[in-house]
Amino acid sequence: MKTFIVAPKIVHEKGAIQCLKDIDLGKTLIVTDEFMVKFNIVKKITDILDKKSTEYEVFSEVEPNPTVDLVINGLQLMLNFNPDTIVAVGGGSAIDTAKGMVLFFNNVMKKKNISTIKDPYFIAVPTTSGTGSEVTSYSVFTNDNGLKMAFNEDIMFPNLAILDPDFTSTVPPKVTADTGIDTLTHALEAFVSNMSCDYTDMLAEGAIKSVFNYLLSAYRDGADILAREKLHNASCMAGIAFTNAALGINHSMAHALGGKFKISHGRANGVLLPYVIEYNSGINNSDGELEEYCAKKYAYIAKTLGLPCSSTREGVMSLIQGVKILNKKLDIPLSIKELGIEEKDFNRLISEMSELAMKDICTQGNPRIVDKNSIEDIFINAYGN
Ligand SMILES: [Zn+2]
Repeated sequence: MKTFIVAPKIVHEKGAIQCLKDIDLGKTLIVTDEFMVKFNIVKKITDILDKKSTEYEVFSEVEPNPTVDLVINGLQLMLNFNPDTIVAVGGGSAIDTAKGMVLFFNNVMKKKNISTIKDPYFIAVPTTSGTGSEVTSYSVFTNDNGLKMAFNEDIMFPNLAILDPDFTSTVPPKVTADTGIDTLTHALEAFVSNMSCDYTDMLAEGAIKSVFNYLLSAYRDGADILAREKLHNASCMAGIAFTNAALGINHSMAHALGGKFKISHGRANGVLLPYVIEYNSGINNSDGELEEYCAKKYAYIAKTLGLPCSSTREGVMSLIQGVKILNKKLDIPLSIKELGIEEKDFNRLISEMSELAMKDICTQGNPRIVDKNSIEDIFINAYGN
């Protein structure tokens, strides 16, 4: 049955971090990375905690593509410190790591049959606008073999998301581009997902419009605080949409490609996006028939964006073109080849990547049925020769 979960509470505006002043945090564990400490971003929070005389510890070992080992390190600190509140500060990696710690902590307590220790209150403060991780029950971890595994557990929903655009104003252009395209991919996948509904459609549509209206401005001028705020909200809206509606093969393929070739998550999604729209819409089907459900939804988005859409086919083609133009303006490559991946390396791994993508949890949400061969075909198209 279709359900729509509205969680967590969201505080959103410039200066929103000040809401921490009014929350009874108790012992607080901050989960972040060294960069956030070094550039005084965490200090914006610890200054508030110091003034409140709140006891806190900082776990700053988070690295991109968090591993299970990293989560276990964080869990050890959590078990020793026993925090009342966890504050995750950073991009998707910091929030995902904190989610893993919350999940493992809950499992340890259940295993030991300890009901007297409550799960900590979980606050997410995203410093990039892309993952939407602050409002989802999803997280992604990398195992010893470099493989990315997606988890989806209700216990990983944060209780509070603080969206303060001041925390994103120093994000460099390349990261702004990659995370913004990740938002677009979340919203488009949620919009066409076979679990989409009226609620998720409205949020996804709003997020897509904001990305097209504001991403280039934030990419060109990081200090454009209005663009930053719109993108921060868009990321969150897309997050709520996809955590309820699911993602699709764009993410499954990006997990496999990014894991094997060390490509950032957003960039891998952005490169694949036009090719996945082609597949899901059936625009290149040999019988000339479109995949009606997807094609109509893509065409609706094209129309909403003011792109040429005199027919469903033209709308789909306009959207594909629109995404490619946006990618080009953001200096995101238009093919896997342009990512600098050698053809022989790509060919060696394409079968394995396609198998991984088929097994990925996100594939279940894809609106068009796929098999390993169709994933391989999309990869070959996206390689671009
Ligand atoms: Zn993503």
